[in-house]
Amino acid sequence: MKLHEYQGKELFSRYGINTGQGQVITSVEELEKIKDSFGNSKIVLKSQVHVGGRGKAGGIKVVEPSKAIETAKSLLGMNLKGLIVKKLLVEKAIDIDKEYYLGIIQDRANKCITIMASAMGGVDIEEVAVTNPEKIIKVSIDPTIGLCDFHVRNIVFGAEFPTDLRNDAMDMLKKLYKLFVENDCTLAEINPLVITKDNKLIAADAKVDMDDNADFRHPEWQEMKEIDETNKLEILAKNSGLSYVELEGDIGCVVNGAGLAMATMDVIKYNGGRPANFLDIGGSSNPQKVVSAMNILMSKPIKAILFNIFGGITRCDDVAKGLLTAFEQLDVKVPVVIRLTGTNEDIAKEMLEKAGYKVGNSMDEAVKEVVALASSKN
Ligand code: GDP
Ligand code: MN
Repeated sequence: MKLHEYQGKELFSRYGINTGQGQVITSVEELEKIKDSFGNSKIVLKSQVHVGGRGKAGGIKVVEPSKAIETAKSLLGMNLKGLIVKKLLVEKAIDIDKEYYLGIIQDRANKCITIMASAMGGVDIEEVAVTNPEKIIKVSIDPTIGLCDFHVRNIVFGAEFPTDLRNDAMDMLKKLYKLFVENDCTLAEINPLVITKDNKLIAADAKVDMDDNADFRHPEWQEMKEIDETNKLEILAKNSGLSYVELEGDIGCVVNGAGLAMATMDVIKYNGGRPANFLDIGGSSNPQKVVSAMNILMSKPIKAILFNIFGGITRCDDVAKGLLTAFEQLDVKVPVVIRLTGTNEDIAKEMLEKAGYKVGNSMDEAVKEVVALASSKN
């Protein structure tokens, strides 16, 4: 789960990390109401969309108060790297003297937590990583040991924080690390970490990603989740107890078991078809799950549906019952190919064929059939 900057900054504040004072608006009218509270100081308007490099793409504007309204008008509704801006974070602009970088990542390659810092922070940090990699200090932390004072000193001295701000920088790093661990983050990044003209350290941006696998122990994440077009179906699927990943093809797949789902997609590809999704309905024959799965599939334009069910402990006749109950409730407009194998497959086949459904004998045969059906609809 990715947090918006304003959500990340709320989290920062809870951990005592200094951020700008801001408010989120969704309309120009809301800005009208609050704009006088900024007095004569410049205002920064920041697009709240889940993309990096908003500054370079024109989604961050520092303006005089008199220009705030017209700037907000141009930002709200704008297309920023494919996403529509619906919310702006409005803050009193920070008077920036220097921009640093401070980030913590879940470092899968090194099986540790890696902290990075640089005195060359700001919008060009990716370029710095390529042209001046030695300017980015990296320290790896064994998560079972945790952050020690020497790590903190290595980072803060290495990134050349000014002497009089070293203690503040160390304090901020410790707080960011605590936040990272306690919130199961995969990323917690402050870029830029700003030194203001009056010599204070402030987190001018906040990029925080959380590990979805830790979802179950963070009920508080629920209200931070944003349902947008890109993940609506995946969230719907999750709430119905299904694992669903949307893909670009036109053959809807309903499979029990993640391994079989992967294999099914491979075989579809091998036969020249294109799977529309990965969907694992798990080990149950619950008709409701089948209905949910079909509803999710059919909300996209697909050309055919393949059921590939392996009956182990799950009995094929139970699954067949589930399928038939589900099909009664649904108006399926595309051809469906079913393949079941395993415990009680003969009974299942008979039930489905009696009801007029085609049942493939082998996975290969069923896949070939569904691929042919999908391509004949081109
Ligand atoms: P990003 O491009 O998506 O990472 O968005 P940031 O929030 O990091 O903003 C990009 C750049 O805009 C920063 O590196 C700053 O140079 C500038 N910026 C952001 N906030 C302020 C601010 O309050 N005052 C000033 N003067 N510049 C800002
Ligand atoms: Mn940034």
